[in-house]
Amino acid sequence: MTLTPEQALEQAALAGIHCLRIPTPFAVGRVNCYLIEDEPLTLVDTGPNSGKALDELESQLAEHGHSIDELELLIVTHQHIDHLGLAEIVVQRSGAKVAALGIAAERLANFDEDAEAEDRFAIDLMLRNGIPEEVTVALRSVSRSFRGWGSHVTVTNPLEDGQVLPFRDRTLQAIHRPGHSPSDTVFWDGERRILIAADHLIAHISSNPLLTRPLDGSDQRPQALVTYIESMLKTREMPAEIVLSGHGEPIVDHIALIDDRIAKHERRKEKIYELIAERPRNAYEIAQAIWGNVAVTQAFLTLSEVIGHADLLVNEGRVWVGNGDIICYEAIE
Ligand SMILES: [Zn+2]
Repeated sequence: MTLTPEQALEQAALAGIHCLRIPTPFAVGRVNCYLIEDEPLTLVDTGPNSGKALDELESQLAEHGHSIDELELLIVTHQHIDHLGLAEIVVQRSGAKVAALGIAAERLANFDEDAEAEDRFAIDLMLRNGIPEEVTVALRSVSRSFRGWGSHVTVTNPLEDGQVLPFRDRTLQAIHRPGHSPSDTVFWDGERRILIAADHLIAHISSNPLLTRPLDGSDQRPQALVTYIESMLKTREMPAEIVLSGHGEPIVDHIALIDDRIAKHERRKEKIYELIAERPRNAYEIAQAIWGNVAVTQAFLTLSEVIGHADLLVNEGRVWVGNGDIICYEAIE
Protein backbone atom coordinates (compact mmCIF):
# COMPACT_ATOMS: atom_id res chain seq x y z
CA MET A 1 0.00 0.00 0.00
CA THR A 2 1.28 3.43 -0.88
CA LEU A 3 1.75 5.83 1.98
CA THR A 4 0.58 9.42 1.96
CA PRO A 5 3.39 12.02 2.14
CA GLU A 6 2.33 12.76 5.75
CA GLN A 7 2.57 9.09 6.69
CA ALA A 8 5.95 8.91 4.96
CA LEU A 9 7.26 11.76 7.13
CA GLU A 10 5.85 10.06 10.24
CA GLN A 11 7.48 6.78 9.29
CA ALA A 12 10.80 8.51 8.66
CA ALA A 13 10.49 10.22 12.04
CA LEU A 14 9.89 6.83 13.71
CA ALA A 15 13.15 5.75 12.09
CA GLY A 16 14.82 8.78 13.68
CA ILE A 17 14.94 10.87 10.49
CA HIS A 18 13.39 14.30 10.99
CA CYS A 19 12.76 16.80 8.21
CA LEU A 20 13.92 20.35 9.04
CA ARG A 21 12.55 22.94 6.62
CA ILE A 22 15.07 25.77 6.42
CA PRO A 23 14.25 29.06 4.64
CA THR A 24 16.23 30.21 1.59
CA PRO A 25 16.16 33.51 -0.32
CA PHE A 26 15.73 31.58 -3.58
CA ALA A 27 12.67 30.98 -5.74
CA VAL A 28 12.68 27.31 -4.75
CA GLY A 29 11.56 28.21 -1.21
CA ARG A 30 12.58 26.18 1.83
CA VAL A 31 15.21 23.48 1.65
CA ASN A 32 14.74 20.20 3.49
CA CYS A 33 17.58 19.21 5.78
CA TYR A 34 17.38 15.96 7.77
CA LEU A 35 18.34 15.28 11.34
CA ILE A 36 19.24 11.62 11.87
CA GLU A 37 19.01 10.69 15.54
CA ASP A 38 21.59 7.96 15.71
CA GLU A 39 25.25 7.56 16.51
CA PRO A 40 26.83 9.63 15.13
CA LEU A 41 24.18 12.35 15.50
CA THR A 42 23.88 13.50 11.90
CA LEU A 43 22.61 16.42 9.88
CA VAL A 44 22.05 15.99 6.15
CA ASP A 45 22.55 19.41 4.49
CA THR A 46 22.45 22.73 6.32
CA GLY A 47 20.48 25.35 4.42
CA PRO A 48 22.01 28.55 3.03
CA ASN A 49 24.44 30.85 4.82
CA SER A 50 22.07 33.36 6.41
CA GLY A 51 21.14 34.42 9.93
CA LYS A 52 17.55 33.47 9.29
CA ALA A 53 18.48 29.97 8.17
CA LEU A 54 20.79 29.57 11.17
CA ASP A 55 18.06 30.68 13.59
CA GLU A 56 15.61 28.21 12.08
CA LEU A 57 18.14 25.40 12.06
CA GLU A 58 18.79 26.00 15.76
CA SER A 59 15.13 26.21 16.71
CA GLN A 60 14.09 23.19 14.65
CA LEU A 61 16.94 21.12 16.12
CA ALA A 62 15.79 22.28 19.57
CA GLU A 63 12.28 21.00 18.84
CA HIS A 64 13.87 17.56 18.66
CA GLY A 65 15.92 18.16 21.81
CA HIS A 66 19.21 18.82 20.02
CA SER A 67 21.58 21.68 19.29
CA ILE A 68 24.16 22.42 16.64
CA ASP A 69 27.12 21.80 18.95
CA GLU A 70 25.99 18.22 19.53
CA LEU A 71 26.16 17.28 15.84
CA GLU A 72 28.82 14.67 15.10
CA LEU A 73 28.45 14.22 11.35
CA LEU A 74 27.36 16.51 8.55
CA ILE A 75 26.46 14.89 5.25
CA VAL A 76 26.51 17.16 2.19
CA THR A 77 24.33 15.84 -0.63
CA HIS A 78 25.57 18.09 -3.44
CA GLN A 79 27.32 21.32 -4.35
CA HIS A 80 24.39 23.78 -4.38
CA ILE A 81 24.52 26.67 -1.92
CA ASP A 82 20.98 26.28 -0.59
CA HIS A 83 22.12 22.89 0.77
CA LEU A 84 25.56 23.68 2.17
CA GLY A 85 25.83 27.38 3.01
CA LEU A 86 25.89 26.91 6.79
CA ALA A 87 28.40 24.06 6.66
CA GLU A 88 31.34 26.11 7.91
CA ILE A 89 29.39 27.54 10.85
CA VAL A 90 27.94 24.14 11.78
CA VAL A 91 31.42 22.57 11.73
CA GLN A 92 32.95 25.43 13.74
CA ARG A 93 30.33 25.09 16.43
CA SER A 94 30.13 21.32 16.59
CA GLY A 95 33.42 19.92 15.36
CA ALA A 96 31.32 17.55 13.24
CA LYS A 97 32.98 15.42 10.59
CA VAL A 98 31.87 16.16 7.05
CA ALA A 99 30.97 13.38 4.64
CA ALA A 100 30.48 14.08 0.94
CA LEU A 101 31.34 12.55 -2.39
CA GLY A 102 35.13 12.32 -2.54
CA ILE A 103 35.43 13.44 -6.14
CA ALA A 104 33.54 16.64 -5.21
CA ALA A 105 35.74 17.44 -2.20
CA GLU A 106 38.11 19.76 -4.03
CA ARG A 107 35.25 21.71 -5.52
CA LEU A 108 33.53 22.03 -2.13
CA ALA A 109 36.78 23.19 -0.50
CA ASN A 110 37.35 25.96 -3.04
CA PHE A 111 33.92 27.48 -3.12
CA ASP A 112 34.89 31.03 -4.20
CA GLU A 113 37.35 30.09 -6.94
CA ASP A 114 34.94 27.45 -8.10
CA ALA A 115 32.04 29.91 -8.31
CA GLU A 116 34.19 32.22 -10.46
CA ALA A 117 35.18 29.38 -12.77
CA GLU A 118 31.56 28.26 -12.97
CA ASP A 119 30.48 31.77 -13.99
CA ARG A 120 33.13 31.94 -16.72
CA PHE A 121 32.02 28.54 -18.00
CA ALA A 122 28.35 29.62 -18.02
CA ILE A 123 29.05 32.93 -19.77
CA ASP A 124 31.11 31.26 -22.47
CA LEU A 125 28.37 28.69 -22.97
CA MET A 126 25.66 31.36 -23.15
CA LEU A 127 27.55 33.48 -25.68
CA ARG A 128 28.28 30.46 -27.86
CA ASN A 129 24.59 29.58 -27.82
CA GLY A 130 23.30 32.95 -28.92
CA ILE A 131 22.39 34.62 -25.63
CA PRO A 132 22.98 38.40 -25.90
CA GLU A 133 25.99 39.74 -24.03
CA GLU A 134 23.94 42.11 -21.84
CA VAL A 135 21.99 39.15 -20.47
CA THR A 136 25.22 37.39 -19.50
CA VAL A 137 26.49 40.53 -17.76
CA ALA A 138 23.27 40.80 -15.76
CA LEU A 139 23.37 37.12 -14.87
CA ARG A 140 26.94 37.37 -13.68
CA SER A 141 26.03 40.08 -11.18
CA VAL A 142 23.05 38.03 -9.98
CA SER A 143 25.35 35.05 -9.52
CA ARG A 144 27.89 37.16 -7.57
CA SER A 145 25.16 38.50 -5.31
CA PHE A 146 24.11 34.92 -4.47
CA ARG A 147 27.58 33.82 -3.44
CA GLY A 148 27.29 35.12 0.09
CA TRP A 149 24.75 32.38 0.78
CA GLY A 150 27.36 29.73 0.07
CA SER A 151 30.37 28.51 1.98
CA HIS A 152 33.41 26.40 1.45
CA VAL A 153 33.24 22.94 2.94
CA THR A 154 36.18 20.86 4.13
CA VAL A 155 35.30 17.23 3.55
CA THR A 156 36.84 15.02 6.26
CA ASN A 157 35.14 11.78 5.17
CA PRO A 158 35.35 11.56 1.37
CA LEU A 159 32.86 8.99 0.10
CA GLU A 160 33.23 6.55 -2.76
CA ASP A 161 30.22 5.71 -4.90
CA GLY A 162 28.57 2.74 -3.18
CA GLN A 163 30.32 3.22 0.16
CA VAL A 164 28.34 2.21 3.22
CA LEU A 165 28.23 4.56 6.22
CA PRO A 166 27.76 2.69 9.48
CA PHE A 167 25.58 4.10 12.28
CA ARG A 168 24.55 2.49 15.58
CA ASP A 169 21.01 1.70 14.34
CA ARG A 170 21.34 1.68 10.55
CA THR A 171 23.58 1.85 7.55
CA LEU A 172 23.33 4.34 4.73
CA GLN A 173 24.81 3.59 1.35
CA ALA A 174 26.12 6.64 -0.53
CA ILE A 175 25.24 6.39 -4.21
CA HIS A 176 26.39 8.89 -6.83
CA ARG A 177 23.43 10.02 -8.98
CA PRO A 178 24.72 12.93 -11.09
CA GLY A 179 22.49 15.02 -13.33
CA HIS A 180 20.81 17.78 -11.35
CA SER A 181 24.38 18.61 -10.35
CA PRO A 182 27.56 16.61 -11.02
CA SER A 183 27.97 15.81 -7.30
CA ASP A 184 24.43 14.63 -6.47
CA THR A 185 24.67 11.82 -3.94
CA VAL A 186 21.72 9.89 -2.51
CA PHE A 187 21.75 7.91 0.75
CA TRP A 188 20.02 4.55 0.89
CA ASP A 189 18.70 2.72 3.94
CA GLY A 190 17.93 -0.61 2.30
CA GLU A 191 16.57 -2.17 5.48
CA ARG A 192 13.90 0.52 5.89
CA ARG A 193 13.64 1.22 2.17
CA ILE A 194 14.15 4.93 2.76
CA LEU A 195 16.12 6.94 0.23
CA ILE A 196 17.44 10.38 1.16
CA ALA A 197 17.55 11.81 -2.34
CA ALA A 198 18.02 15.60 -1.93
CA ASP A 199 17.48 17.30 -5.29
CA HIS A 200 17.88 14.15 -7.38
CA LEU A 201 14.09 13.79 -7.19
CA ILE A 202 11.61 16.46 -6.13
CA ALA A 203 7.86 15.81 -6.07
CA HIS A 204 6.47 19.16 -7.17
CA ILE A 205 9.12 20.45 -9.59
CA SER A 206 11.42 18.74 -12.04
CA SER A 207 15.04 18.95 -10.91
CA ASN A 208 16.72 21.09 -13.54
CA PRO A 209 19.79 19.38 -14.90
CA LEU A 210 21.83 22.58 -14.93
CA LEU A 211 24.84 22.72 -17.21
CA THR A 212 27.78 22.64 -14.84
CA ARG A 213 31.53 22.10 -15.17
CA PRO A 214 32.51 18.48 -14.65
CA LEU A 215 34.02 17.56 -11.29
CA ASP A 216 37.36 16.64 -12.84
CA GLY A 217 37.89 20.34 -13.59
CA SER A 218 38.01 19.90 -17.37
CA ASP A 219 36.18 22.42 -19.51
CA GLN A 220 34.31 19.76 -21.47
CA ARG A 221 30.61 20.45 -21.29
CA PRO A 222 28.85 17.44 -19.72
CA GLN A 223 25.52 16.20 -21.14
CA ALA A 224 23.64 16.97 -17.94
CA LEU A 225 20.17 15.83 -19.04
CA VAL A 226 21.48 12.63 -20.62
CA THR A 227 23.31 11.88 -17.36
CA TYR A 228 20.27 12.80 -15.30
CA ILE A 229 17.95 10.46 -17.20
CA GLU A 230 20.47 7.61 -16.77
CA SER A 231 20.58 8.37 -13.04
CA MET A 232 16.78 8.43 -12.75
CA LEU A 233 16.52 5.06 -14.50
CA LYS A 234 18.93 3.57 -11.96
CA THR A 235 16.93 5.01 -9.06
CA ARG A 236 13.75 3.65 -10.66
CA GLU A 237 15.08 0.13 -10.06
CA MET A 238 15.47 0.70 -6.31
CA PRO A 239 12.78 -0.82 -4.06
CA ALA A 240 12.29 2.47 -2.22
CA GLU A 241 9.17 3.03 -0.17
CA ILE A 242 9.94 6.57 0.92
CA VAL A 243 12.05 9.09 -0.95
CA LEU A 244 12.99 12.12 1.12
CA SER A 245 13.59 15.16 -1.08
CA GLY A 246 15.64 18.31 -0.82
CA HIS A 247 12.53 20.43 -1.35
CA GLY A 248 8.81 19.88 -0.82
CA GLU A 249 7.06 16.72 0.30
CA PRO A 250 8.38 13.14 0.41
CA ILE A 251 7.86 10.98 -2.68
CA VAL A 252 5.86 7.83 -2.06
CA ASP A 253 5.78 6.44 -5.61
CA HIS A 254 9.14 7.20 -7.15
CA ILE A 255 8.55 4.92 -10.15
CA ALA A 256 5.43 6.85 -11.21
CA LEU A 257 7.24 10.14 -10.66
CA ILE A 258 10.28 9.08 -12.71
CA ASP A 259 8.08 7.73 -15.52
CA ASP A 260 6.21 11.01 -15.56
CA ARG A 261 9.44 13.04 -15.70
CA ILE A 262 10.89 10.93 -18.48
CA ALA A 263 7.66 11.23 -20.51
CA LYS A 264 7.81 15.00 -20.05
CA HIS A 265 11.39 15.12 -21.32
CA GLU A 266 10.34 12.99 -24.28
CA ARG A 267 7.57 15.45 -25.19
CA ARG A 268 9.86 18.45 -24.83
CA LYS A 269 12.50 16.76 -26.95
CA GLU A 270 9.97 16.21 -29.76
CA LYS A 271 8.82 19.82 -29.53
CA ILE A 272 12.42 21.00 -29.86
CA TYR A 273 12.97 18.63 -32.76
CA GLU A 274 9.98 20.19 -34.58
CA LEU A 275 11.44 23.67 -34.09
CA ILE A 276 14.82 22.56 -35.44
CA ALA A 277 13.20 20.69 -38.35
CA GLU A 278 11.34 23.89 -39.32
CA ARG A 279 14.65 25.68 -39.75
CA PRO A 280 18.11 25.58 -38.17
CA ARG A 281 18.12 27.44 -34.87
CA ASN A 282 20.50 28.16 -32.03
CA ALA A 283 19.61 27.25 -28.45
CA TYR A 284 18.61 30.81 -27.53
CA GLU A 285 16.20 30.98 -30.46
CA ILE A 286 14.72 27.65 -29.44
CA ALA A 287 14.29 28.86 -25.85
CA GLN A 288 12.56 32.02 -27.07
CA ALA A 289 10.25 30.02 -29.34
CA ILE A 290 9.17 27.92 -26.35
CA TRP A 291 9.14 30.37 -23.44
CA GLY A 292 9.24 33.82 -25.07
CA ASN A 293 11.42 36.47 -23.45
CA VAL A 294 12.10 35.00 -20.03
CA ALA A 295 13.45 36.91 -17.03
CA VAL A 296 17.21 37.31 -17.04
CA THR A 297 17.53 34.99 -14.05
CA GLN A 298 15.81 32.23 -16.04
CA ALA A 299 18.05 32.55 -19.10
CA PHE A 300 20.64 29.99 -18.05
CA LEU A 301 17.97 27.60 -16.78
CA THR A 302 16.10 27.60 -20.08
CA LEU A 303 19.37 27.31 -22.00
CA SER A 304 20.26 24.22 -19.93
CA GLU A 305 16.84 22.76 -20.76
CA VAL A 306 17.21 23.34 -24.50
CA ILE A 307 20.80 22.08 -24.74
CA GLY A 308 19.92 19.03 -22.63
CA HIS A 309 17.17 17.99 -25.02
CA ALA A 310 19.25 18.87 -28.08
CA ASP A 311 21.96 16.53 -26.69
CA LEU A 312 19.38 13.70 -26.69
CA LEU A 313 18.51 14.47 -30.33
CA VAL A 314 22.17 14.64 -31.34
CA ASN A 315 22.85 11.29 -29.62
CA GLU A 316 19.88 9.78 -31.47
CA GLY A 317 21.37 10.97 -34.76
CA ARG A 318 18.38 13.19 -35.58
CA VAL A 319 20.10 16.54 -35.21
CA TRP A 320 23.59 17.75 -35.88
CA VAL A 321 25.51 20.71 -34.59
CA GLY A 322 26.38 23.19 -37.32
CA ASN A 323 29.70 25.00 -37.47
CA GLY A 324 30.03 28.68 -36.72
CA ASP A 325 30.75 31.04 -33.86
CA ILE A 326 27.28 30.43 -32.48
CA ILE A 327 26.25 26.82 -32.11
CA CYS A 328 23.34 26.07 -34.44
CA TYR A 329 21.24 22.91 -34.50
CA GLU A 330 20.11 21.44 -37.79
CA ALA A 331 17.83 18.47 -38.42
CA ILE A 332 19.16 15.46 -40.28
CA GLU A 333 16.70 14.49 -42.98
ZN1 LIG B 1 20.29 21.48 -5.95
